[in-house]
Amino acid sequence: FFIAVEGGDGAGKSTQAEVLAEWIRNKGHEVVVTREPGATPIGKRLRSILLDVSSAGLSDRAEALLYAADRAEHIDSVVRPALERGAVVISDRYIDSSVAYQGAGRELSPTEIARISRWATDGLVPHLTVLLDISPETARERFTEAPDRLESESTAFHQRVRSGFLTLAAADPARYLIVDAGQETEAVTTVVRHRLDQLLP
Ligand code: C5P
Repeated sequence: FFIAVEGGDGAGKSTQAEVLAEWIRNKGHEVVVTREPGATPIGKRLRSILLDVSSAGLSDRAEALLYAADRAEHIDSVVRPALERGAVVISDRYIDSSVAYQGAGRELSPTEIARISRWATDGLVPHLTVLLDISPETARERFTEAPDRLESESTAFHQRVRSGFLTLAAADPARYLIVDAGQETEAVTTVVRHRLDQLLP
C-alpha cells in the first residue's frame, strides 16, 4: 500500500509521515517512511544540487529533470522493492510535488511534467495522496532554519504551487485526502487516521 504525503513547504509533511507510520506499525504492518528528493545515495547528491543556494540560475527544465532522476532512482531502489514485499510505503513528496513546483510554480506545462514523472516511475500511482494544504503566509511563519533555494521563492510562486496541488486533488477526489494543515498537528493526524482506517485493516 503506497501513501504519498504532499503539500507546500512548512505544511508539516515529515511530522505527519512519522506519526502515521507509528500508528500503522501498531496495526502490525511493516512501514517504510521515505522522501523526495534525497532518499538514496544518488538522490542525496541530487538533493544538494537542487537545494543549495549556489545553484541559483539552474535552468527550469534541468531542475525538472533532476527531480525526475531522483524519483526514478527512489522508485527503483526503495519504493517498489518495499511494496513488493508487502510493506506500507509513506513517501514525503512524490509526483504531485513536481507537477505543483515545476509545473505550476515554474510555469512549465503541468501535463508535460506529469508525463516525465510517469515515465520516471513506470506509472506507479499512490493508493492515497494526503494533501496538507496551507497558505504560504502561515507556512512561512513556521520556518525556523535559513530558507533553502526554493523556500526563498516569492509568495506568488508558492501560491501557484498551492493551487497546483489543489487542482490535482480536485481532478481525482477518490484518491486524495485534502487536510487543512493550518490546524494543530493532532487535528491533522485525526483526519488522516479516519480515512486510513477505512483503507488499511
Ligand atoms: O520537503 P523538503 O523540504 O525535503 O523539500 C525540499 C525542497 O525542494 C523544498 O524547498 C521544496 O520546495 C523543493 N521541491 C521542489 N520541487 C519538487 C520537490 C521539492 O521545488 N518537485
